[in-house]
Amino acid sequence: MRKLIVATSNPGKLREIAEYLTGLDWQLELKPQELDIIETGTTFIANARLKASEVAKALGQWAIADDSGLAVKALNGAPGIYSARYGKSDQERITRLLNALENHTQRQAEFVCAIAIARPDGTIALETQGVCPGEIADQPLGEGGFGYDPIFYVPESQQTFAQMSSVTKNRVSHRGKAFAQLLPDLAKL
Ligand code: IMP
Repeated sequence: MRKLIVATSNPGKLREIAEYLTGLDWQLELKPQELDIIETGTTFIANARLKASEVAKALGQWAIADDSGLAVKALNGAPGIYSARYGKSDQERITRLLNALENHTQRQAEFVCAIAIARPDGTIALETQGVCPGEIADQPLGEGGFGYDPIFYVPESQQTFAQMSSVTKNRVSHRGKAFAQLLPDLAKL
């Protein structure tokens, strides 16, 4: 089995990626904590490429990275690639976003997930991007999920991400779509 380094220090993300890649002939491993990649890209895909490529080169192994975030139309795409840095906690990020949209009737938004896979020499072998269109709810709804889930409402499912079962979220979410697109090509590598 070939090793695939997951370019994150977050064990939760490793578990999630492992679920999407179940049954494939890759053995996933977390990148070493001390190998820190600064996300200097200006797009989701640029940051995913950067993280995958730098980790692959540093370790001489195949690497996978994802970069995701929430782009809100009325805020010209913010918080976008800065979604994780929009506040110190999920609660703070949600409150800041709801305040920024106060009195806005235009609440369209989309979650984006970019994924890149790099060869051991750092060149990019595969990349893809999944998008989930939705709206920012007026108030948090639902108990599940993480991050901005309670305020991201998906009209198609008539639920916020936080109200969905994980099976439904994995089917409609930006990350679910990105991995579904990636899997056939990854199986062929
Ligand atoms: P990263 O992909 O770890 O860089 O996370 C980017 C930011 O977007 C973090 O603040 C996450 O909480 C948020 N985020 C990414 N995907 C989701 C999701 O599926 N639900 C809620 N928040 C998300």
